[in-house]
Amino acid sequence: MRADLHNVSIDEGLARHGLCGQIHLPSGRRCVRPHRHAGPCHFVHPADLDRLIPDSPVDSQAIAPAVF
Ligand SMILES: [Zn+2]
Repeated sequence: MRADLHNVSIDEGLARHGLCGQIHLPSGRRCVRPHRHAGPCHFVHPADLDRLIPDSPVDSQAIAPAVF
């Protein structure tokens, strides 16, 4: 287990789309870069996923609002 992964998890729906899908737990945002992308994750708020991924599997209503 990588120590730097202890506070993240993967959105399986986004992963099935071939995306990174890492979840930034404090904010609930998801990384929408390609799976195994180089460089840092690019986290997007679930409310914005519908625009980026028309058939987004993420239910934005089920996700806690961002704390920022
Ligand atoms: Zn990522």
